[in-house]
Amino acid sequence: MTLLELAKKEGKAKVAIAARVGGALKDLSAPAPDGAAVAWVTPTDPDGIEIVRHSTAHVMAAAVKNLFPEARITIGPAIENGFYYDFDVETPFTPEDLARIEEKMAEIVRADHPFTREDLPKADALKRFPGEPYKIELIGDIPDPVVSLYQVDGFLDLCRGPHVPSSGKIGAYKLMHTAGAYWRGDSKNRMLTRIYGCAFASKKELDAHLRLLEEIKKRDHRKLGRELDLFSINDDIGPGLILWHPKGATVRRIMEDFWRTEHARAGYDLVFSPHIARLELWRVSGHLDFYRQSMFSAIEVEGQDYQLKPMNCPFHIQIYKSKIRSYRDLPVRYAELGTVYRYEPSGTLHGLLRVRGFTQDDAHLFLRPDQLDEEIFSLLDFTLFVLRRFGFEKYDVYLSTRPEKYAGSLENWAKAEAALKSALERKGLPYAVDPGEGVFYGPKIDIKIKDMLGRSWQCSTIQVDFNNPERFDAAFVGPDGSGQRAIMIHRALMGSLERFFGVLVEHYAGAFPTWLAPVQVDVLPVTDKQADYGRDTVAALRKAGVRVEGDFRNEKLGFKIRESQLRKVPYALVIGEREVTQKQVTPRRRGGEQLPSMPLDEFVGILRGETDNQST
Ligand SMILES: [Zn+2]
Ligand SMILES: [Zn+2]
Repeated sequence: MTLLELAKKEGKAKVAIAARVGGALKDLSAPAPDGAAVAWVTPTDPDGIEIVRHSTAHVMAAAVKNLFPEARITIGPAIENGFYYDFDVETPFTPEDLARIEEKMAEIVRADHPFTREDLPKADALKRFPGEPYKIELIGDIPDPVVSLYQVDGFLDLCRGPHVPSSGKIGAYKLMHTAGAYWRGDSKNRMLTRIYGCAFASKKELDAHLRLLEEIKKRDHRKLGRELDLFSINDDIGPGLILWHPKGATVRRIMEDFWRTEHARAGYDLVFSPHIARLELWRVSGHLDFYRQSMFSAIEVEGQDYQLKPMNCPFHIQIYKSKIRSYRDLPVRYAELGTVYRYEPSGTLHGLLRVRGFTQDDAHLFLRPDQLDEEIFSLLDFTLFVLRRFGFEKYDVYLSTRPEKYAGSLENWAKAEAALKSALERKGLPYAVDPGEGVFYGPKIDIKIKDMLGRSWQCSTIQVDFNNPERFDAAFVGPDGSGQRAIMIHRALMGSLERFFGVLVEHYAGAFPTWLAPVQVDVLPVTDKQADYGRDTVAALRKAGVRVEGDFRNEKLGFKIRESQLRKVPYALVIGEREVTQKQVTPRRRGGEQLPSMPLDEFVGILRGETDNQST
């Protein structure tokens, strides 16, 4: 009896596409075991959907070979959300080719061809792939004497399987795009053409995924950065280096103002440090040993080597060390929006998300060991307060513990890990432990924020450090007059301003909340006759501290409103004859909601309500 027959007997033939027998995944055409437990695999299981995706790759390759017999086949695995298959072809496939391939696939699906498996000695298998050098190479690499081949609609492939029983069982799919890929990922090898496809168990899931991709494209911060004139990256300046345009710079200034105000309020001292320092400093800090590949080359000045800073820590340590500290002075908290420079290969750079020069919202805390608990708890509190202000309410939190190689005493490690843990628990934050994933100098908490589309972004980090205080001898005088070593915490909440700004742009799709919006209000007179009142309104709002622009062009009102919406300005004030005679304004929200006419003061009150609620 085959597994399929067993499935029929158990009434599972409709849903099952494969089976798990004693831990191994099997085709339904495989014999049913005597007695061993069988778990049916359906397209909605993680294993099942992978089988569906990989089977779809076979069906696609079958379609390609049918339409392009000269294409040489290589490999086609399942990946997240879909699959790909690499082909060796003279000219890469065009979008029109992909449409034809999709049609052919639909034919194969409709015909419901069975997937059949053969197990053959390698020597026999080699004979089955005439004119397919990649398959010959792959078979040669397999250590087992017997290999398995799968066939669907006459298309033969080397494969471990399992597969869906027949081509009609693959789900909903769509071919997305092509890309170049080297055979075996090695740039010395031939460049192949990869076709990427999405595949899901149902059309509903595929559609939801395609909608998400559409939304991600719409929100791309590089696109919105251009459209809203926020920032640019310019080849004359250099890759990975950001030019902040006035509108982006305004948002950044507000982010920075908020950050500075709240840090001062939370007991931090704000400092500044230079962008370069003697190379020797980075030898002491250990960066030359551990971090050199991420640093730019040294700069020679008067026969001495200087280094563009990849981090701010040593500067803050030197400020701490500029005088003798008593145990009563601690904790000392230094915060800086410190711009650092790190070497990243040009191929890895990506808009604002991966750059070569960026500003960390950095701080270094110097503590006595007995202060760890309380300090980490209030730090976590402060971190969440900052993230919430920017509209992030959901997080993935990770606690990384002691790795095999570590600096500092076991006792301190245990204390620090316990402090991090208890802070997370007191805050009621669910977290995952990454055992052994701490930095060699101390354990850490990493917080990934979740954006509007549910995507995770690593931003905040809180790292305990036992190593730098030792390297730089950062100490304090204890109650008994003896010198004691301070514990240090490195922390960044937004991480990098550039990256965080990029995430914010995508999170809000460029429609910043009123407190962050580069322009908060557009004043739109209906005709020239209301221009004077319009200008007075602009002046009065500006005086009240509102970021306001007026559109006095001789354009139709509808046009002006549409433009204001495209620029994602939170409020448009339409000024017609009625507004002028009644000395009022009629606000219109970005989304289209019309507010009643009101005196200007009242409108300023609404704006205040939306901007001031931050200082809770
Ligand atoms: Zn396969
Ligand atoms: Zn640091």
